[in-house]
Amino acid sequence: MTTERPSRIGVLAIQGDYAAHAAAFARLGVATEPVKTVSELAQVDSLVLPGGESTAMLRLLRRDGLDAALREFVHARPVLATCAGCILLAREVCHPHQESFAALDISIERNAYGRQNESAIVPVETTLPGGPMEAVFIRAPRILKTGPSVKTLATRDGFPVLVREGKILAATFHPELSDDQRVHELFLEMIRES
Ligand code: GLN
Repeated sequence: MTTERPSRIGVLAIQGDYAAHAAAFARLGVATEPVKTVSELAQVDSLVLPGGESTAMLRLLRRDGLDAALREFVHARPVLATCAGCILLAREVCHPHQESFAALDISIERNAYGRQNESAIVPVETTLPGGPMEAVFIRAPRILKTGPSVKTLATRDGFPVLVREGKILAATFHPELSDDQRVHELFLEMIRES
């Protein structure tokens, strides 16, 4: 007889708005665990990379010796990445160029909306059931190119803002900051599938 243990969802909690992701899952009745160390990462089956400041995150990941384990994790397990998290996963980062884990076949430009448009709440077109989605953009990056196996699930002004490639779901906005729970629900579905 096999006893299935419940899937454990981690939220990378070294920088940025990780608490908002934990709260978004809690609203759906799902518990998450903060991940700050290699051993905590080894305990979880899927991971959320929150928004924040990707340069600072990279620095802290290296300082804490978490970067190699995280690189391996994001290439193998379900990952939900938002904003800075999406930048960390990209194949290519520009403006300015930055190291990344290259787990998601996109090329992304940081802080792409300029000073005037630093933050905005915009309804975006989505193929997810339920019509346009309210999306919160904060010093958001812009996805400039997607590879052939990347599916675009939402767009702003014709640019992808929510994409999926295999076990990775990534947004350039902050679904954890709005009442629309479709992105977190989709990620839970992806975890069940995998
Ligand atoms: N501007 C940030 C960066 O370049 C991302 C902003 C965010 O996560 N809200 O990493």
